[in-house]
Amino acid sequence: AVDRPFEGVIGKLLSDFLEQPSPAELQAALPAFLEKRSWFGLVRAHLSTTGQWRYFECTLHPVLQDDSVLAVTVIADDVTAERERESLFSALFETLQEPVWVSTCEGRLLDLNQGMASMLAVEQRQQLLGANLFALVLGPERDALQEVMRRRQPVRDFDLTLVRSDGAPVACIANATPVVDVSGVARYHGTLTDISKRRAVERQLAYEQRFKEQLIVSFPDAIITLDAQGRFTFGSPRAEILFGCPASSLPGRPLTDYFDPQDATPIATLLRDCVSEPGTACTRELHPQVGADGIWRTVQMRATALLDEQQRLTGIVASLRDITEEKQLEQQVIAQERMAAVGQMIEGFAHELNNPLTAMVGACELMRQDGVPAAAAHHLDLLESQTSRAREIVQNLILFSRPAIEGTATVDVGKLIERTVALRRHSLRAKNVSVDLGVAAPLPAIRAVPGQLMQVFLNLLINAEDACRAGGRQGGTVRIRTGCDGGFVWCTFQDDGPGVKPADANFIFEPFFTTKGPRGGVGLGLSICRSIIQAHAGRIEVSSAPDGGAVFRVSLPRPNAEVGGRGRVRSETRGQI
Ligand code: ADP
Repeated sequence: AVDRPFEGVIGKLLSDFLEQPSPAELQAALPAFLEKRSWFGLVRAHLSTTGQWRYFECTLHPVLQDDSVLAVTVIADDVTAERERESLFSALFETLQEPVWVSTCEGRLLDLNQGMASMLAVEQRQQLLGANLFALVLGPERDALQEVMRRRQPVRDFDLTLVRSDGAPVACIANATPVVDVSGVARYHGTLTDISKRRAVERQLAYEQRFKEQLIVSFPDAIITLDAQGRFTFGSPRAEILFGCPASSLPGRPLTDYFDPQDATPIATLLRDCVSEPGTACTRELHPQVGADGIWRTVQMRATALLDEQQRLTGIVASLRDITEEKQLEQQVIAQERMAAVGQMIEGFAHELNNPLTAMVGACELMRQDGVPAAAAHHLDLLESQTSRAREIVQNLILFSRPAIEGTATVDVGKLIERTVALRRHSLRAKNVSVDLGVAAPLPAIRAVPGQLMQVFLNLLINAEDACRAGGRQGGTVRIRTGCDGGFVWCTFQDDGPGVKPADANFIFEPFFTTKGPRGGVGLGLSICRSIIQAHAGRIEVSSAPDGGAVFRVSLPRPNAEVGGRGRVRSETRGQI
């Protein structure tokens, strides 16, 4: 201990090696020792030979002779290392911010650090010494903790709510281990981790998550996320509706799978633009095929790149707004505007032609009255019939641009249909289309413009013929029926073609709506039919036949029935067709 050989120590004074306690201090302690004749205690000593501070656990006994003390034996055990460890531990215990405690198995607090006192809003840790740990725990966790400690089991990640001295709850995680001392008594050494802030952050995060989910669910647009390769990583419930499949089936599938193949390039461009201009929302109009019936819709896709905190691309987030109805409305408005312009032009043009043609028809009549040579009579007939035909076409154009009921007569709808079919006989045979004509007789007569009704029936028949030949079919049958129902005379034209798609049904009566392609039709037939039938205060409707073909039904009011049409009667010619 004093770093000297044995012979260097014997005979020397203790104070030669020991700076402290000083001889004076030793002298001062001597009387008490002499009185008790023994001493045990810890001595903090500074050794002059080594210049060190050491701790010695000393046991002192007197060497007696006739009851007087001759000398003192000292057994000095160097406990410096233990003391240092102990003081290190105490310093740690004191300075640790984390709450630390020691308790009996019954929960009586034997020791705790200031960190724990602060967590419980207690000024001095001594105030809590002797308090019961369990009494500080709120709720059913108290019993659970008590039970574990009663069984001397370790306490592992116990979620506890403690009550502070001001009554406020504090959420924490408890960990503790039972330690048995030499006497066999178990003590719990435990720590507490204050997780109130973490809980508050978790609550905030959970709230934000719920908010985000509700926002996504209630958002009118479909929300999707894609990876950098354009494959789905997420689809909102609206995306389910839009793509007609469960959102869970979307992740991993390429976006392009759900769109018109012609959209592949616009989609690639959109994704490229997003990636090259992060922070900018890029927009494109695309066409997904929706649901089991595969209806094409138009959507506006608005996409933005998703970046991580290092501004690296992690994917793409996009909203998809179904603008099909908007688009159709827009097209309708355009068509109506175009229609109005065309109508105005046709009306002016037809009126201009009508007068010269009427004059030409009149001139033909005059020539006939004046008499023409037999050789010219045939030419005159031709001239007169062709001029009349031209005038009829012009008048039809006037009717198309501004339908009005002119020249009504009492007509038999059945007969008009028979005439119409007769007119198409050649074409029907050429197209291998047969007509199953079931005209109920006698049908009540109605008041109508016969030429206009024939035009309606002609359009319906031509459309039915086209339907029978649609999709490369070699022919078919058109079933025509008539009847009388309440105040109406009706007729139906039913074909065995593919029928009208539900999505088209709302538009087929609109001008310029056609599915026959640029060389097939102009899309005016049914809009003219509707104008004529409405002008006659009737109705025209389309439905599906049980076998899938289209059924067009025309209903026209009988004379004694109340008429609510838009038609204007300018003059009447009496007659029976
Ligand atoms: P167009 O015949 O020039 O196309 P229409 O106005 O007569 O114009 O018809 C409009 C559209 O209505 C057609 O392009 C077609 O899609 C649909 N249509 C009409 N009649 C039928 C039918 N009998 N079967 C199926 N679709 C029909």
